[in-house]
Amino acid sequence: MPIPSKAAIQICEDIHAWEAGGARSAEALAGWVSARLAAHEAALAALLAVEGERTPENTLRFYDVVVEQLSLAGSQAGVLNSVAGDKSVRDQAQMEAQRVAQAGSALSLNRPVYDALAAMSLEGCSPATTHYVERTLLGYRLAGVDRDEATRAHLQTLQEKATRLSLEFGRNIQEGAKSIIATADELKGLPDDYLARHQPGPDGNITLTTDQPDMQPVMTFAESSALRERMFLAYHTRAYPENKAILQQLLATRQEIATVLGFRSWADLATADQMMGSAANARVFLERLDQASREGARREHDMIMDFARKQRPGLSEIDITSRGYWYEQFRRSAFDFDSNSVRPYFPYAQVEEGILATAARLFNVEFRRVDVEAWDPAVSVFDVFEGEERVGRFYLDMHPREGKDKWFSAAPVVTGVRGRYLPEAALICNFPGGEPGDPGLMQYNDVVTFFHEFGHLMHAILGGHTEWAGLSGFATEGDFIEVPSQMLEEFFRDETLLRSFARHYQTGETLPVAMIRRMKGASAFGRADGMRQQIYYTTLSLDLHDQDPKSIDLDREIRDLYTRFLPWTWLDGNRMYASFGHLTGYSSNYYTYAYDKVIALDFFAQFDQANLLGGDAGGRYRKAVLEQGGSKPGRTMVRDFLGRDEAFGAFSRWLNEEFENVGLAGVGAART
Ligand SMILES: [Zn+2]
Repeated sequence: MPIPSKAAIQICEDIHAWEAGGARSAEALAGWVSARLAAHEAALAALLAVEGERTPENTLRFYDVVVEQLSLAGSQAGVLNSVAGDKSVRDQAQMEAQRVAQAGSALSLNRPVYDALAAMSLEGCSPATTHYVERTLLGYRLAGVDRDEATRAHLQTLQEKATRLSLEFGRNIQEGAKSIIATADELKGLPDDYLARHQPGPDGNITLTTDQPDMQPVMTFAESSALRERMFLAYHTRAYPENKAILQQLLATRQEIATVLGFRSWADLATADQMMGSAANARVFLERLDQASREGARREHDMIMDFARKQRPGLSEIDITSRGYWYEQFRRSAFDFDSNSVRPYFPYAQVEEGILATAARLFNVEFRRVDVEAWDPAVSVFDVFEGEERVGRFYLDMHPREGKDKWFSAAPVVTGVRGRYLPEAALICNFPGGEPGDPGLMQYNDVVTFFHEFGHLMHAILGGHTEWAGLSGFATEGDFIEVPSQMLEEFFRDETLLRSFARHYQTGETLPVAMIRRMKGASAFGRADGMRQQIYYTTLSLDLHDQDPKSIDLDREIRDLYTRFLPWTWLDGNRMYASFGHLTGYSSNYYTYAYDKVIALDFFAQFDQANLLGGDAGGRYRKAVLEQGGSKPGRTMVRDFLGRDEAFGAFSRWLNEEFENVGLAGVGAART
């Protein structure tokens, strides 16, 4: 029996595209990706050349190198597509991402590879290896590998088309910054440091962009409803009209793939290998969310309306562009909490230090900053240590830059494989700060987002020591992926933890406990309404992929769903579907956020609430969930950690916490 050819499973030395010049030169990037694709080809050829009895050692070993090289190339093409400073490099990165995806879809339809994997004897294999093979074979069948050759060729064309459309859709959002002009008067209500950063031009007017740090404060603080409306429309049309046609084509292409494969809809296909299992199950879940949030959201709306009418007698409705503003006003009054008041306690650098320290204690690791080259000088790099052993590396690219992706995300950089590669991952965010002299004062929900993304990062690093690349880090079912992130978000609730890093950037004063309580009360208010916003997004994501795309009128669809789930007045001209970036990654499965929230809150409830970092929950969680990566089904990990399936209880309590803690009486009493 031939032994695996050593050359094809060699560890590649050149694991960073930017070290090969790929962050600055399109040509260098193409060369680096080509080398990865060549390594993937070599492993593929070695796999197919094996003669005699197939075993994981002589077959899966090669297959996993194929997966590893594709994910290495795909991850870094993806990262550079989001962060490279030069547009020509970003364009190249998009093309490279497409090339890698093409290789991936060719692999998913490669009948000889499927036959080879299916022929392996799994006797005596570890449960993780068995799970890997079974899941891979299921993926093959869902891709259509058992169809005739013409059908497979057709499917591959369709998949490539879907990938290209998805990449274009994402890039248009990323590049589609708009700006609006505001008068100085219209900026009334915005914080001083915002005003300082936005000086009027020679004509006395101020230019604002649709980037998060410009947009979000306007929607929260600006007294001028005209300004909020202009900002809202600019923000939600920043990739319109281009993305409308692209989305329509993408939906049609996905539906065609589903039809060829014998599925009623894309949503049924996309949930078939997920924890959810089917579009019908997703609808049952949505119905449950709807019921759990309806009453609370109605009360929240009534309270905001009553309050707004007292401020502005005669006010008959609050529209979609004023919701955030009135929430802020209400919170100031009812909870004596001005979200601006905590910002001086959250300067970016301190928050970073605090979150890193929290994660280090919780997961019993150490982070050491290292001075190595990344794709941009603004990126800071940390090594992760366990004792004296280095177990991973991460990159923090945390502030806006020209041409950089405008969102907040965690991305794999190097998929970790035990004995081969240490895991590496990156955060690509757009938090305030980053400019000399700017302390980067964060809103508290920015801090929550930071915790969230750091949860993903830890999953990639701590889960990046599996035997197989195909089981590493994020390789869980797609609808389990938001559990670790949303679990870590909850740590923001802890007073002791917050006080360990929230200090006034000028006076050094620690964030007072009374202020934290008001902040928590204020932030809990609106959860039910916020959940209905999620139901709106979730239903949209599902509906768009669960009917004949030809019959979809995107503008009518978003308006109808919004008015079905939310009480705030709709604004025509809103084209949010054109910049709903999750429609590419999650497609029909945006339910993932809410579904995983239920699991994450149940997980969080297992921690000692009086001493979150103490007790054994952190260690158990790390072992049962994070370290597993995709070695087990999500369902098994839930049961391993909880000892049962997740329950709705913790989620319902969280959703209605405001009415327990501050209660309706708290609207007045919360001041004390
Ligand atoms: Zn996330």
